[in-house]
Amino acid sequence: MASYYDENTLIYLNGSFVRAAEAKVDLYGQTLHYGYGVFEGIRSYRTVSGETKIFKAEEHYERLRQSALALNLPYEYESDALIRATYELLRLNELQDAYIRPLVYCPANMSFNRNTESYIMIAVWKMEPFLGNTLLKVMTSSFQRPNPKGFKIQAKATGHYVNSIMASQEAKAAGYDEALLADMNGFVAEGPGANMFYEKDGKIFTPAPGNILPGITRSTVLDICREAGIVVEESFFTTETIKGADAAFFCGTAAEVIGWESLDGVPFNKEWNNTVSRQIQVAYKNRVIEKAILADKEPINKLGQLV
Ligand code: PMP
Repeated sequence: MASYYDENTLIYLNGSFVRAAEAKVDLYGQTLHYGYGVFEGIRSYRTVSGETKIFKAEEHYERLRQSALALNLPYEYESDALIRATYELLRLNELQDAYIRPLVYCPANMSFNRNTESYIMIAVWKMEPFLGNTLLKVMTSSFQRPNPKGFKIQAKATGHYVNSIMASQEAKAAGYDEALLADMNGFVAEGPGANMFYEKDGKIFTPAPGNILPGITRSTVLDICREAGIVVEESFFTTETIKGADAAFFCGTAAEVIGWESLDGVPFNKEWNNTVSRQIQVAYKNRVIEKAILADKEPINKLGQLV
């Protein structure tokens, strides 16, 4: 198993910085027993100017608040204070390119009653910038995403990730890199921890909101497309549609933008390096490290140079 901390690592725990190795959690906690908690996945980068920047910090902490509200968890934290604490935590742990994991969890409570308080921890660990040149072999999962009538699917709740773990493990056991899950109507939804897009004839398509986690990376990709004049359609489609596509990719905070080699063994029509999707991947990479985008090029090159 991966090691996320050592004896010197500090975490933020309910207002203080404490050693990860010495921090305690209540084994009677409701979050541990019932998967009833909310969390975030955030990244910080060393920008081209050498600074540490948390990408979309406000958006992530706002989603944490909304996730907590959706699940009736007490949430009394101010985003500004949490963002300041996160920068301080990165500094204390001497990290620039990092993954940031805030988790809001519940006290000991074996009932299903509402809690009067919640707790927060933030952990950070090193994460190298992802180069994104490997392509994924994706498998259509036998698992569907949780039904939005049974779960607050737009919330990033800990318990939802049992579904993600099952789907990802199934795909890996079958020799694939990752799973693609449908929604309860059989339309393509998302990956276990990432949203998806596909490309056909220079146009980009992605599942419409409703049955997916509306990702912050997904919305950044939509911004990139809008700025570059790339046409995007948000709609409902099946895996069969993707199999005739020119390219497809997952996007998420951890995954960034990562292309697919094939879906269920069916390759895509175009070479990844010759796709609009690849240009979007490069534009995303430039954006997170605040690399300036060339302004005076053709629309497609506005996305940034290939690196
Ligand atoms: N869908 C799921 C199920 C996820 O877990 C994630 C990762 N948070 C995403 C999509 C992508 O969201 P984001 O771009 O905000 O990281």
